Amino acid sequence: MTSKLEIVKENIQTAAQAAGRAADTVALVAVSKTKPVDVITPVLDAGHRIFGENKVQEAAQKWPALRQKYSDLQLHLIGPLQTNKVRQAIQIFDVIETVDRPKLARAIARIAREENRTLRCYIQVNVGQEDQKAGILPSEADDFIALCRDELGLTVEGLMCIPPAAGDPEPFFILLKNIADRNAVKKLSMGMSGDYPAAIRCGATAVRVGTALFGHRNASN
Ligand SMILES: *Cc1c(COP(=O)(O)O)cnc(C)c1O
Repeated sequence: MTSKLEIVKENIQTAAQAAGRAADTVALVAVSKTKPVDVITPVLDAGHRIFGENKVQEAAQKWPALRQKYSDLQLHLIGPLQTNKVRQAIQIFDVIETVDRPKLARAIARIAREENRTLRCYIQVNVGQEDQKAGILPSEADDFIALCRDELGLTVEGLMCIPPAAGDPEPFFILLKNIADRNAVKKLSMGMSGDYPAAIRCGATAVRVGTALFGHRNASN
């Protein structure tokens, strides 16, 4: 039987090839939020190592033990981060994809130094300018990238976005790519279960896929 992991990887490969790109230019972040360890372990045992969680507290419960066994894990924080949880987040995660405001960026820079950790960061852009969504506004993105990279010395690996739930996401993916290109930011985390092939067409270098790998979650997560 073909596993969900294999199906998603095949879809990534197909979309990458259609865009004239090698499949290994697109990383799969397996979004395991709300899923218990016994659901995650088979995916680890199949050789997958990049995972995403949206809550620091939940990740703290699930992942330190798994990291003992799978030491080459790469854990991405893909949910909002409060400044009072930065230290814990830095201890658990390898990548923070949701850097979205100066206060948070300053806290990450300071605490990463204190903890002697080099953290890979993505800047989240609120591409749809939605009130309910986190992210720096597109019009403020250039200045914020400069602050993070030049003033605070953060490793700005890429940009991340969650387009509006309804409608065609492609214009928003293209907007994110344009912001990245004009700022010489290399990576783009965009695309979820419903739209990752489209995101890859638009230049995604990482797709964050939960439902298509692990099945549906209960509402509100
Ligand atoms: C939950 C979540 C995902 C995964 O969404 P699916 O539709 O289940 O693939 C991706 N990105 C973020 C930021 C999320 O919170």
